Amino acid sequence: MQLVKLPPNSKVAVIGAGISGLSFSYFLSKLRPDLKIKIYESKNRCGGWINSARTKLNTNSNKTGGEILLEKGPRTLRGVSDGTVLIIDILQKLGLENEIKCIESNSEANKKYILDVNKKLCQVPPTGLKSFLHFITNPMSKGLLTGILGEPFRSPSKVQDETAYDFLKRRFGNTYIADNLFSAIFHGIYAGDIKQLSVNCTLNKLAQMEKDYGSILRAVYHKRNAKPEKSLVLSQYNEKFCGNSAEIDEISQLNTFLSKYPALGLKNGLSTLPNSLESYILKNPNVEIQYGKHIENFKLLNHDKTNAQKKAAVELDGGKELFDHIHITVPTAKLFSKCENIDKDFILKLEKLKSASVILVNYYLPNKDVIFRNHGFGYLVPQSVTNHESLLGVIFDSCIEQSFQPLFGARSEIPSPNPPYTKLTAMLGANHSFVDSLSTAAVDNAGVPSPSLVKGIVKECFKEHLGIDEKDLENGHWEVTLASNAIPQYYVGYNHTDLESKLPLNVVTVGGMKFSKGPGVPDVVVKSFETALGLA
Ligand SMILES: Cc1cc2nc3c(=O)[nH]c(=O)nc-3n(C[C@H](O)[C@H](O)[C@H](O)COP(=O)(O)OP(=O)(O)OC[C@H]3O[C@@H](n4cnc5c(N)ncnc54)[C@H](O)[C@@H]3O)c2cc1C
Repeated sequence: MQLVKLPPNSKVAVIGAGISGLSFSYFLSKLRPDLKIKIYESKNRCGGWINSARTKLNTNSNKTGGEILLEKGPRTLRGVSDGTVLIIDILQKLGLENEIKCIESNSEANKKYILDVNKKLCQVPPTGLKSFLHFITNPMSKGLLTGILGEPFRSPSKVQDETAYDFLKRRFGNTYIADNLFSAIFHGIYAGDIKQLSVNCTLNKLAQMEKDYGSILRAVYHKRNAKPEKSLVLSQYNEKFCGNSAEIDEISQLNTFLSKYPALGLKNGLSTLPNSLESYILKNPNVEIQYGKHIENFKLLNHDKTNAQKKAAVELDGGKELFDHIHITVPTAKLFSKCENIDKDFILKLEKLKSASVILVNYYLPNKDVIFRNHGFGYLVPQSVTNHESLLGVIFDSCIEQSFQPLFGARSEIPSPNPPYTKLTAMLGANHSFVDSLSTAAVDNAGVPSPSLVKGIVKECFKEHLGIDEKDLENGHWEVTLASNAIPQYYVGYNHTDLESKLPLNVVTVGGMKFSKGPGVPDVVVKSFETALGLA
């Protein structure tokens, strides 16, 4: 997308100090030190959904009042991603390389499970003979072999976009693969319904393979010896932020190194990332953050849509301070609706893009490992499993934390934790039908189930799926948090690039999950980088 370079000494307003707003401000202030940047943040803290909370312990078995770290949002970054490369490089530049942890591919925290129809965990993909035999004899693998073997012979479709479910059904000739496997992954990434989400937005690479080669397997076969394409984002970042020529490609080397690790994390929680970015950018006198300021609307003054070069001004909430450009990281239809110069179709399409809410339930039990039978990253629940609880999945935080190794520097033998502990996070889909089915006494005015009800539901799941006994559940520390309207549900036909092109991009740009290639932290950081580069 062609963006217009900002004139010298421009004033830029950034809405939101989540990782999008902070990384955008970091990139832009480094690329263009002449600009003045003011970030507006509704809350009194930065980080948005990234929230590593230090919580006082409150358990029946521990009255010492110690503190624990509970993640209330994201906790790991995927290893293979341009955005992760950028994040790791930033952390290194900020002197935080000792904070960075990795999960190795042979580590037990890299074992992922799905819940099967018998409410037992099944490892997917299997990693050894035992788990392989368990998987292929499990009903969840039904249709996999015939689906894959027949895939190259199924004719491609010419539809522009469809649901991910319809796409997989066409390619694999059955619904089992989507129902039993992919729907679980969609619960984990989008907290959403595979039967509603757009294939172009969620499985873009697979959809493109079909478009280019007529089949996914044929595409894999044709590309088997091809050199991996060089990422434009990484080349641009290398040039602008590492001062390197194409020959000395430090960033490609980092990318190759990181691709060995399935997931990365930070020693003191993911909040280290926004917190350190916040401290760093605030050292720059040209960057300011106004906390506790929720922006309701904005107006464009002197805007001439026929002349992108003509200087316009942005007014926020009718305030006196004017800006040359506004970058919105939390674009909602409401925020745009009062601005006369915004294309009505943009607002309508943005309004149609709903976001899923997630209920997070943290459980912590000191002094005891009660998931020793199933160590791993966690498990996801497919749509084919009866799931009145609306459980999306459970993350085994204690296994992840205990398997973490330093990314840089010497590896250590993983010590058995002393004393052992269990930390789990269950995620429930707050939009699912179970909320509708609850009695009014069990929900608050916003339709959110009461914490005690949610805790009861999750306890039953932990008992049934993980075999944790009632006493250990009672003795644990519990917290329930609602992430309201958190993850965008990219509908069929949604195309963020087309939508963005309807904006007067010389004065307004957008970022965040709705306008990135995906909803993950690395995706939104790439978007921030691309936009900052385009404006600088
Ligand atoms: C439960 C959950 C788990 C997740 N797990 C992972 C994971 O494991 N790995 C991963 O990579 N990603 C994960 N994600 C996604 C990740 O959290 C997002 O990619 C990332 O946090 C998006 O950052 P952002 O800055 O775009 O938006 P946000 O984090 O939403 O930040 C936006 C900020 O803007 C502020 N704001 C909103 N409106 C206004 C306004 N009008 N005026 C001023 N300020 C405003 C908000 O207070 C907030 O601070 C998860 C998300 C959720 C909800």
